[in-house]
Amino acid sequence: MPAVKVHVSGVVQGVGFRPFVYRIAVQHSLRGYVKNLGDAGVEIWIEGTDENIEKFIADLKNRAPPLARVEHINVEKVRETGVAKFQILPSSNGGGGGDSIVPPDVALCDDCLRELFDPTNPRYMYPFIVCTNCGPRFSIIESLPYDRENTAMREFPMCEFCDEEYKDPLNRRYHAEPVCCDSCGPHYSLIDSSGAAVPGEPLKETAKLLDSGHIVAIKGIGGFHLACDAFNSEAVRELRRRLGREAQPFAVMVRSIEEVRKLAYITEHEEKELVSYRRPIVLLRKKIELDGVAPGLHTIGVMLPYAGVHYILFHHSSANAYVMTSANYPGMPMLRDNERISEFRDIADYFLVHNRRIVNRIDDSVVRFHGSRRVVIRRSRGFVPLPISSKYAYVGIAMGAELMNSFSIIKGSKIYPGQYIGDTAKVEVMEFQREAIERMRGLLGIDDYELVIVDSHPLYNTTRAGLEMSKEVLKVQHHIAHVAGVMAERALDEMVGIAIDAVGYGSDGKIWGGEIVSIAPGSVRREWHIPYYSLPGGDLASHYPLRALVGVLSTFMPEEEIERLVRSRCAGAITALPHGETEFGVILRQTEIRRNAPQTSSLGRLLDSIAVFLNIAYRRTYEGEPAMKLESAAMGGKDIHFKLREDEFISSLFEEIMSSNASVRDIAYSAHLAIARFFAERAVRVAEERGIENVGVSGGVAYNALIVSEIEKTVNDAGLKFYSSEEVPRGDNGISVGQAYVGGMYLEGIVNKNEIK
Ligand code: ZN
Ligand code: FE
Repeated sequence: MPAVKVHVSGVVQGVGFRPFVYRIAVQHSLRGYVKNLGDAGVEIWIEGTDENIEKFIADLKNRAPPLARVEHINVEKVRETGVAKFQILPSSNGGGGGDSIVPPDVALCDDCLRELFDPTNPRYMYPFIVCTNCGPRFSIIESLPYDRENTAMREFPMCEFCDEEYKDPLNRRYHAEPVCCDSCGPHYSLIDSSGAAVPGEPLKETAKLLDSGHIVAIKGIGGFHLACDAFNSEAVRELRRRLGREAQPFAVMVRSIEEVRKLAYITEHEEKELVSYRRPIVLLRKKIELDGVAPGLHTIGVMLPYAGVHYILFHHSSANAYVMTSANYPGMPMLRDNERISEFRDIADYFLVHNRRIVNRIDDSVVRFHGSRRVVIRRSRGFVPLPISSKYAYVGIAMGAELMNSFSIIKGSKIYPGQYIGDTAKVEVMEFQREAIERMRGLLGIDDYELVIVDSHPLYNTTRAGLEMSKEVLKVQHHIAHVAGVMAERALDEMVGIAIDAVGYGSDGKIWGGEIVSIAPGSVRREWHIPYYSLPGGDLASHYPLRALVGVLSTFMPEEEIERLVRSRCAGAITALPHGETEFGVILRQTEIRRNAPQTSSLGRLLDSIAVFLNIAYRRTYEGEPAMKLESAAMGGKDIHFKLREDEFISSLFEEIMSSNASVRDIAYSAHLAIARFFAERAVRVAEERGIENVGVSGGVAYNALIVSEIEKTVNDAGLKFYSSEEVPRGDNGISVGQAYVGGMYLEGIVNKNEIK
């Protein structure tokens, strides 16, 4: 009888792959074994007829379980051993060198959801119910192979009932590592802010507390949320006050898709994403206003329940939507460990905690749609640790930039972006990054990096950490990395990139952010940028876009005229400054004498300055706020065709804005389109000059639907190919993927070190 040994790689552990193999092996009368390997791959040995082996291999490819990703199947002829039956063997630690990875955390499946509310089911109302098709994965794993003893479930030995299901090849929980029930698994408990236990059923009591306007910290899958009734504006306002979070939008978790429809408009693409196993936060167009939840924006971030605890809370609750925001102090990592909840005593009234450790902190992911295109803003739970395929194979790490940080590890021809890390200016966040890198490195079985890639900003903590890591470190300019992120996703090796962004360190030491770059084999160039203007007071010091406005206007206007214009058109912006008039005087002087007024080409800050000029936003309390509100203000506007002059981008733009009698909405709308066309036309010209047929867009401003769709239209009209990313985050959360790709191009000798720094 013929016999073969099969090695399968991809996402094949923790997804019900071995039971699946078992079933198809038995179906085709094959004998042998299947086992998990230490590199996250699976080894199969089968003996039987040639015909059956062939059928088995075909099924392996075509009928794999929904969460599995089969990347490679390697079949090797071996000598028959004459085994009598097919069985699942214990995992072995061998392997290595493969391209397998554990799956991401998966939302509760429909079967488990049904059982959760079935009074006859042993796991009725048990919040930790899961099966092979759903539940936590990445968030609970410490090391490979993916076995219970290598996860946070190690502390919960299975009871007889669970063990039976676990061992039954016909059961949905066959070899499901996180399987447990009320008698053997983890439990929730509810405590008040003094640490005292609240009597009663924890989840039922929590629902009551939320319904009566309290703020509760809830431990979930990847960390703690802070929750309150999203329809209770007093509770929402109180949460903002306690967090010191003035206007940054909160995400809401909504009871059901039907209830989502009452809050917001949903396209079919958005609905598909909302209900997907990833269950990200999806930014939707508001239908009604939830007071204080997402002030001043036309969108609201919505997600559906994704774990048993969420469904049970809604079951006991009269609320249809909860604010569900990551429990963190501004700029700090999300609360993860029970031992540290006391730090949140001033924020939450109560704490709903459970006794299962969260091994890997992972925030909710955030996406938005531009028509049918998914735009990833924060790539974390549900996505990580799935890789992105790359054209260039090596072993390395890309450290990302500073804000919205995530790192990427490169192994072979795959880029593995890590989870959302946050603002790495803080030491606590850097500590989180260090820990997350170590974990991912372990899961990928990497000892050493060939290359470490960092942002060219010399003072970023991530740059410093990268420099300490090993021998060869490559610096990649921020906006080249943004553009390369699109190229990575689309496997391109040449593209003209429009990098529209807030701020990034430029190779001339200035602050870049409105760039056209070309990347092609043998040549990387900064082709055009928004003419430099100054940011009086510096970028980080300034949360007042009036400062940027003064800097912008000073490129073509004398001081007295700026003063007159601001007083007559947006005097409220002066009053909004902490030191009012006096401060306005200082800003004018700083600009005039160019003292403490760094130069920038940022489009993000330019949009901020338009927002303040149009009296849409006077403050930036979170990154992107004025520009996002400008986009919201432009929604539904009409184009009055602003004409921008080739070599006078800023002055012609502002002349049009200042002289128009149109409504704020139409002006905001027209400004967006004019800027988009200007960039696109410029990029098209560069593409023609360089003989490149691809034009792409990335950077933080590329979340703006108006600007991106107009760029796309202009590029297509010119007969060129347009690209933007749908998997790699366009903002700084995606920087490390671009860095990783540039690292590969560099190692292949395609780009020159000096042109990319
Ligand atoms: Zn399930
Ligand atoms: Fe950026």
